[in-house]
Amino acid sequence: MKANYHTHTSRCHHAEGTDEDYIKSAILGGFDILGFSDHAPWPYTTGFVSETRMLLSELPDYVSHILELKEKYKDQIEIHVGLECEYYPQMISWLSEIKEKYPLEYLLFGNHHYPSEEEASFFGMCTTDLHQLHRYEKSLIEGMQTGLYTYVAHPDLFMGAYPTFDKHCEEVSRNICREANKQHLPLEYNLGCADYCEMTGESLFPHPAFWEIAKEEGCTAIIGVDAHAPYNLATQKYYDKAVETLRMLGIPRLEKLDL
Ligand SMILES: [Zn+2]
Ligand SMILES: [Zn+2]
Repeated sequence: MKANYHTHTSRCHHAEGTDEDYIKSAILGGFDILGFSDHAPWPYTTGFVSETRMLLSELPDYVSHILELKEKYKDQIEIHVGLECEYYPQMISWLSEIKEKYPLEYLLFGNHHYPSEEEASFFGMCTTDLHQLHRYEKSLIEGMQTGLYTYVAHPDLFMGAYPTFDKHCEEVSRNICREANKQHLPLEYNLGCADYCEMTGESLFPHPAFWEIAKEEGCTAIIGVDAHAPYNLATQKYYDKAVETLRMLGIPRLEKLDL
């Protein structure tokens, strides 16, 4: 079974290709299941317009277009529709409302900012600022406790710019893994920067030290392509390598979500 539930669309302004291109590439890449989880819009009340997500007004079309394609391609691939969302405490009741209002099948927890994109910098750019690192930990743990999300996307996102995996990272990782287990949430083995890591030889995320801890804590993993371009789904080597790495580590892998 080959599944991926982490797929973006051009509506987020930093992904390319048509919705249908992603599906065609996924079929080429041998996927049985493809879930769309574009960056969720948020009901900002300040007039703030995010450059990294769809507008609120685009949400109905996003959902209906994916559902249309789900029907069109039903004999070739199983399609699902969801969103990738942060944990913004002030807007969390809105999030649970839209989850009911639209036929959204799942929400991925992508903890990119906290308490909102307007007020805080991107957690993937966290350097040695311990305040920011602990904010990542705290918001991720609180978000997991809401029960709204299906899995945690890139739990080791804080290693996107942090120079070395030190004792602070170790503590943060352990706490994240323990809470994920408590909430029965799988952790995503994210392939979003696989290309970059291979090219530069850097280990951003998935970070080996994080996954050693995940193994020690008995976490469950799920592979997510985090596709921002259709070709990400046609390339099989990173996915296959991830399956192998998780197998070598002895981390159980969830092959598909029960939606
Ligand atoms: Zn993105
Ligand atoms: Zn994503």
